[in-house]
Amino acid sequence: MPDRLLLRGGQIVSMDPTVGDLVGDVLVEDGRIVAIGPRLDIAEGAAVIDASHHLVIPGFIDSHRHLFQALMRGLGTDWSLFQYFTAMFGMLGPRMTPEHMALGTTLGAYDALDSGVTTVFDYSHNQSSPDHTDEAVRALRDSGIRAMFGYGGSMAEQLEILSPPFKSTTLSDEREIRRVRDQYFASDSGLVTMGFAVRGPDSSTMDVVRSDFRLARELGLRINTHIGMAVLAQDMRPTVVRLHKEGLLGDDLIFGHCNLLTEEEFRLMADAGVSVSVTPEDESAMGHGWPPIGALLRAGIRPNIGIDTCMAVGGDPFTAMRFALAVPRGMANQRSLENGVNPWRLDLSARDVLEFATIEGARALGMDDVIGSLAPGKQADIVMIRTDHISMAPVLDPVASLVHHAGRGTVDTVFVAGRAVKRDGALVGVDARDLGRRAASAATGLLEAAGVTPGWAPPPPPGAGGDH
Ligand SMILES: [Zn+2]
Repeated sequence: MPDRLLLRGGQIVSMDPTVGDLVGDVLVEDGRIVAIGPRLDIAEGAAVIDASHHLVIPGFIDSHRHLFQALMRGLGTDWSLFQYFTAMFGMLGPRMTPEHMALGTTLGAYDALDSGVTTVFDYSHNQSSPDHTDEAVRALRDSGIRAMFGYGGSMAEQLEILSPPFKSTTLSDEREIRRVRDQYFASDSGLVTMGFAVRGPDSSTMDVVRSDFRLARELGLRINTHIGMAVLAQDMRPTVVRLHKEGLLGDDLIFGHCNLLTEEEFRLMADAGVSVSVTPEDESAMGHGWPPIGALLRAGIRPNIGIDTCMAVGGDPFTAMRFALAVPRGMANQRSLENGVNPWRLDLSARDVLEFATIEGARALGMDDVIGSLAPGKQADIVMIRTDHISMAPVLDPVASLVHHAGRGTVDTVFVAGRAVKRDGALVGVDARDLGRRAASAATGLLEAAGVTPGWAPPPPPGAGGDH
């Protein structure tokens, strides 16, 4: 008999245009949604969960998160992007052991699951030895999250952007990447699949870019990269035009940030089907540039959302959605005010950013036929949000409540492929206190080894000028 689960009587926000929003039931069989309707018959043998007093929504999808950096949670909240580069690539990252990678990835994955993120692109750019990779992959698999493991090369490769020629010239370790593909991801059917987090044209030479893109496409790996942020690799810009001329653009690309790209570049990306991952909170704060959400939408690109790093910001998608809504609205309002006109209508809506955080993330990962909305045939990646929480009542508009009033504390239950990873407000089978103790001990040792103390910030390099 199939493994059956019936979520009874929830306020469903499906993000699927056919299913729509309704009060009703979701039937799950063997990890897959088989039916959604106002009142389903109780299937034989089904476990029934009372979903009344809950919003029932698809799991959030984070298209850009460096899970391993959760080990250094909060350390960089007052660092600029270049202070982060200096400390991370030059001091902390190179001293991280395989055990640190496992611990950070575990913490990061549980943090994500706890807040309703059921799928993450793990941008894991600290593969400094095969052991680092083995431990990161093992931790990701053990966590129960759905993920694309983004193999991202070593810290030594990242660090090359900080000294002349201010870009990485080292070719990726092709043999190692093939090993990881063969050993862990020979089939693409598991909960964790593989992608390639490349340094890209802002951080590496075109020789490296060509080589990485060729390998990724030969191995069938989706390519994710940081691009168009901050004042990097000026001689490579306009970077996307360069990629276009090389014939390298395609719909297997996820570009992270894109803050300083031009309208022409967005047009080229739209034509090629490139996805864009914005991480609005840290972009706004650290020196990437403003999240380019308005410009993307004008070019016909609907973005998706990531957290980026829990060194700088918190790990919950609700805050990210609110930044993704408030910042482009603020930018548009400011333009209007500077033209002497009070804004009447606001740009964007709560539903837009909820789409960015769900179905658009699925599209970016090439998984929109599998996840990203609640519909028969899709995987049962489902989140139940309490509506009886004091922060939520009254729920007059479920989508507005989800984006503006919900938070981690309202995430009651989380399923990944029909398996409960969080139930009644607590992660299942996770000893958070023990994990926290081990993380604190490991992080303290790492900071000591790196000579970094909380509250310290890297000074500017000699000759770099002032603070800005
Ligand atoms: Zn990043």
